[in-house]
Amino acid sequence: MIVHLRPEANPGAVQKALVARGLWPQRLEGIGVQYRIGSCSNHVTSEELLAIEGVAGVAHAASPHPLVDAQPEQVQVAGVAIGGGAPAVIMAGPCSIESQQQIDSIAARLGALGVSFLRGGAFKPRTSPYSFQGHGSEALLWQRQAADRYGLKVVTEALAETHAQEVSQMADLVQIGSRNMQNTALLKVVAGTGKPILLKRDMAATVEEWLLAAEYCLHHGAASVIFCERGIRSFDPTTRYVLDLASAALLSKVHRQPVIVDPSHGTGRRDLIPALSHAALAAGAAGLMIETHDDPGGALSDGPQALPPEELRKLLADIETAGR
Ligand code: PEP
Ligand code: MN
Repeated sequence: MIVHLRPEANPGAVQKALVARGLWPQRLEGIGVQYRIGSCSNHVTSEELLAIEGVAGVAHAASPHPLVDAQPEQVQVAGVAIGGGAPAVIMAGPCSIESQQQIDSIAARLGALGVSFLRGGAFKPRTSPYSFQGHGSEALLWQRQAADRYGLKVVTEALAETHAQEVSQMADLVQIGSRNMQNTALLKVVAGTGKPILLKRDMAATVEEWLLAAEYCLHHGAASVIFCERGIRSFDPTTRYVLDLASAALLSKVHRQPVIVDPSHGTGRRDLIPALSHAALAAGAAGLMIETHDDPGGALSDGPQALPPEELRKLLADIETAGR
C-alpha cells in the first residue's frame, strides 16, 4: 500500500508513526513524499493510517498474486489439514523409490509412526546422467500400493510434462521439484489436472518468484498450493544448501500460506535434521518433509540426509512433546 503525505507534513514524524505501528515503510521519491508499505505481519486499516497527522491518502496497489492471497491459510489434501494451526503434517520416505520391497517396508514403519504422507521419487531429477534416474511408472504403482496398505497419502514428483497425467492419477499431492519451479510449461500441465501441488522453492528463486510460480499453478487449475522451503544456494558449501527459515516465517506469518520445510535437502546432513525441524516449526511451518531410509548407507540417492526410522520416531516424539 502507498501512503501519500500532505505538502506541509513532517515526513520524519510520519515515518516514525508508521514504524511505531510495526510497519516497514520505504520512502519513495517523486512528486511529493510517499511511503510504500510492503507485505507486513502487522495488519493496519486505512482508517488507522489516515488518522496519522500529515497523511493525505492511502492507496492499495494491486497484488501480482491475487489467487495466492485468496488461498485460505489452511488447505485440505486428501482429508489432511495443512496449515492454519493444524497439527504439524509429516511427509517422510526415501529420496527415491528403489524397489517394491523397499517402499513397502518403509511405509509400514512410517504408518506406525503417524506420518501422513509417504514421499519418494519415481522420476528423479539427478545432476549426473549416470546416477540412478528412478524406476518411473512402475515405482508410482509400488508407492500407491504401499501407501494404501499402511494408511498413508502419496506425495511424489512430476518431473516432466509427459509424466504429469500418470503422476497426478497416482498421487494425492504432486511435487514440483526445485529445478522445475520456474518451468511454467510443466506448472500449467500439472495444475491443469486439478491436483494440489507441493511447490518446492527453486534453489535460486526469490520469494516473489516463488509466489508467482504458485500464482501460475492456481491460475491454471491447481486445487491448492503448498509451499516447500528446501534451501537456497549461497557462497557457503558447508551445508548442502542454506535452509531459509526466514522465508518459512514470512510465508506463514505475513502471507498466511501453508509452508512445509525440508531439512533433508536444506542441510544435506542427517545430524542437523532434528534441530532444523524444531526451528522450522517454531518459525511457523505447517509441517516437515524428511527423507527416511531403512538403510541410509545403501541408499541409491541422498543417503547422507536420510534419517533411519528409529531416529525419525524420536524426532516425532519430541515434536509431539513440544506440542506441535
Ligand atoms: C526430492 O524431494 O527428492 C528432490 C529432488 O528435491 P528438490 O527438488 O528440492 O531438490
Ligand atoms: Mn532427495
